[in-house]
Amino acid sequence: MEERLQKFLAEAGIASRRKSEELIAAGRVQVNGQVVRELGVKIDPAKDKVLFDNKPVKAQETKKVYIMLHKPEGYVTTAKEQFGRPAVLDLVQGVKERIFPVGRLDYDTSGLLLLTSDGDLTYKLTHPKHDVDKTYIAKLYGVPDEGALQKFRRGVVIDGRKTRPAKIQILEKEKDMRFCTAEIIIHEGKNRQVRKMCEAIKHPVAQLKRVATGELTLGDLPKGKYRYLTEREIKYLK
Ligand code: URA
Repeated sequence: MEERLQKFLAEAGIASRRKSEELIAAGRVQVNGQVVRELGVKIDPAKDKVLFDNKPVKAQETKKVYIMLHKPEGYVTTAKEQFGRPAVLDLVQGVKERIFPVGRLDYDTSGLLLLTSDGDLTYKLTHPKHDVDKTYIAKLYGVPDEGALQKFRRGVVIDGRKTRPAKIQILEKEKDMRFCTAEIIIHEGKNRQVRKMCEAIKHPVAQLKRVATGELTLGDLPKGKYRYLTEREIKYLK
């Protein structure tokens, strides 16, 4: 997008906008090899080469932010919700940068959701090739027997396609065996995959929470709250 040369110089940290006008008038600024002295000139930072005192001026990078949200149930992961339901972005209103969810969690699923202004990272993390382990704690109807667990682990057919092998272990059974709590780890991220896999072994999900994505863990982040990722976590993602 085009912008005025003095604004570009100011944003790049060369000088204030007014002082930048003086620098332009003094002939110290070149655009694509030509000295520019007029003040109205517009440039495209993505295409035009700007020099100040013969040195290249780099457009200031817009600040990238990386956030972990503990998404509650009852929120959609889209940026805009056509039916007026609460959206995850409503929970991060303190953040000024334009951020987007990385992938999605179902309306009824809670847990770890990343949000970022870094489009390149979003692209990388949501690409099918990028398949880190995603860990869920699920409350299931009934208690799967060993056969059902083995079937789940080998991969089940959902939407006409066999899933890759996955992990499941029962953490707790309710006394009356009406429900159990399981830890489930999958690599892929197909639409409603955990729910569909559990349905395939006839133990549907009653509650679902994502507790980790690769090395990133939700920890004790309270539901509905967010935090900025640490430098280490950002490095890990990239
Ligand atoms: N699998 C699901 O079924 N739902 C989610 O929200 C995430 C993974």
